[in-house]
Amino acid sequence: AAALDGKVGIAAAEAAGIKLTSPDRVVYPGQGVTKADLVAYYAAVAERMLPYIAKRPLSLLRCPQGRAKYCFFQKHDTGAFPDAMKSMLIEENDGDKESYFYIEDLAGLIGGTQMNVLEWHLWGSRIDAVDKPERIIFDIDPDEGLGFEHVREAANIIRGDLEALGLETYPLVSGGKGVHVIAPLRPKIEWPETKQFCRGFAQRLAEKYPDRFTANIRKVNRKGKLFVDYLRNERGSTAIAPWSSRSRQGAPAAVPVTWEELQSIQAANQFTLADAAQRAQQPDPWKGYFDTKQSITKTMQAAVDD
Ligand code: ATP
Ligand code: MN
Ligand code: MN
Repeated sequence: AAALDGKVGIAAAEAAGIKLTSPDRVVYPGQGVTKADLVAYYAAVAERMLPYIAKRPLSLLRCPQGRAKYCFFQKHDTGAFPDAMKSMLIEENDGDKESYFYIEDLAGLIGGTQMNVLEWHLWGSRIDAVDKPERIIFDIDPDEGLGFEHVREAANIIRGDLEALGLETYPLVSGGKGVHVIAPLRPKIEWPETKQFCRGFAQRLAEKYPDRFTANIRKVNRKGKLFVDYLRNERGSTAIAPWSSRSRQGAPAAVPVTWEELQSIQAANQFTLADAAQRAQQPDPWKGYFDTKQSITKTMQAAVDD
């Protein structure tokens, strides 16, 4: 794939009114991807990415010295961020209000990159309805050493079982080891019922295919299996944003694919940032995502109940 062009990144930052410091600093040492290159990446994918990330509460993985160095998750706005990184107050589970980041546009993506954000993680709801999830995610986490063909097969099973319940899904290769099977929802029911459905579904799966799946987060239960991580589906928990860069070896991105394409994908981290930038100019693998008018019904809930 063609390399990312730092000059394009510098121009995009200027156009967005973001002062980009140290544009030539290398963020991904293995690939020589600089901060300006990363801005160019976000400029290339913004149109595809923004519908998924704009106006959702965020959790940011920041790596001030680049990928292989010290990184930390930041949930709350401590100030000193460019204006394009907005924030809002959200009531936490303990009743206190805390400030959460959100963005609205490319300037937000560039503003975050200026602040050394390497991964953009999302709540499952929008800022105007934080209590009503707009999607559920089954995050397939393979045990150490389990090949990607098992992840693929697991994703297909989850897709089929959700489809049988009446939910259409879209696959995301995480840029790490697994696949996220995502069902967009109309924001209707709230988090507790949503989580209960997801837990029930994951437990059903583990019962149906005991050699293959576990719904138990403990690593000892994971030997040779895939953990169906349903815990992404709680109020305040986050998952990687579609099209986000990952702070991992090889400068990968989290990339939407079609179900058909998934069948020939060899690894969850096979798309580099340069690949993903090119891919964003091609037809949308998740066409129809926002037209999917579905929600978790009483019937679906009953089908996975204990
Ligand atoms: P992989 O395919 O390699 O599993 P992933 O993105 O699914 O990649 P997981 O470790 O399965 O990675 O997912 C954990 C999720 O939990 C992350 O996407 C992130 O949103 C969230 N997370 C993990 N650690 C933290 C943390 N320290 N603070 C906030 N959120 C976190
Ligand atoms: Mn995962
Ligand atoms: Mn996980």
